[in-house]
Parts: sequence; structure tokens; C-alpha cells
Amino acid sequence: MASKSQQKAIIKKWNDNKHRKSAKNTNARRTVTNRALTSDKECPMKFRVYLNGSNHWFLQSQGSCLDHKYHPKLDVSAFSLSEKDMTNDEQRLTALLYDVNVPPSTISKILSSIRNDDVGTFLPKTVFNINEKCRSLVDVANGILPTCSDAEKTLISLQL
Ligand SMILES: [Zn+2]
Repeated sequence: MASKSQQKAIIKKWNDNKHRKSAKNTNARRTVTNRALTSDKECPMKFRVYLNGSNHWFLQSQGSCLDHKYHPKLDVSAFSLSEKDMTNDEQRLTALLYDVNVPPSTISKILSSIRNDDVGTFLPKTVFNINEKCRSLVDVANGILPTCSDAEKTLISLQL
């Protein structure tokens, strides 16, 4: 059996690791939050709803407050970026990778690794939407309209 000092060292190391892991998780997940220390620092956001006789729910404006306050600041790397935050080179690279069937999650990681700042990330869904929008614009330019059936789209693609 380990001596008392060894046991204390093991417990201290275990506790340090536990705290380090929880701190890391706090930065990675937006849903982690802490309870307000005092009642005057609580977020006032609340909404009241009511059910009327015809079984419809309504938001009651009186007594509801949709403003959030006193939330901890979000880590800058947790901000999600949109298409307008993308440079022309990044857009071209994204389109190129998407055309060779690189998944949006991988494109998101590549964009994060080539960006110089750590401000924000492109979510895979955002990358997907940007590419789909770009692809549908190219389709319209080639005469493939969203109203075309799959057969019509294939025929037009074969003629190109
Ligand atoms: Zn809130």
C-alpha cells in the first residue's frame, strides 16, 4: 500500500487532471454555463405562455422578457463565421475541395488551420450551405433550374 504522502500526491494529481479536463470542456462547449452568484446577476430572460380555449399556445408579452444579460463571454474561437467572413481565396479553395468530394467537416478543419487568427470557425453546415448555394447558381447559369426534374437535369448536364 502507498504511503500517506504518496496517496496525497495521487489524489492531488487526479484532482488537477479533473479540473484541467473540465476547464477544457467549458471552452469547447457553448452549452456549459454557471449558476449566477447573486440573484441580481441572474439573466432576466423569461417568457410566459398561455393556452387558450382553442388549444393554441400564445406568447404573453406582459411579464415576458426576451433580453439576455450577465452571460459569460463566449470564447472568440467559438464564434461561427459566415460566407461574408470568407476571403476570395478561401471561397475558391472551398469550392475546389467540395468539387473533389472533400466532406464539409474536413474543409472546415482546413480553413481553420490556414487562417492566421483564431477568431471564429466555419461550421461544416455553413461550408455545406455555401457550396450548395454556389453550385445551384452555377446550375442556373447552365440552364438547370430548381424546377427541373432529375431526368431533365441529367439531360442538360450531358449536353454541356
Ligand atoms: Zn439568458
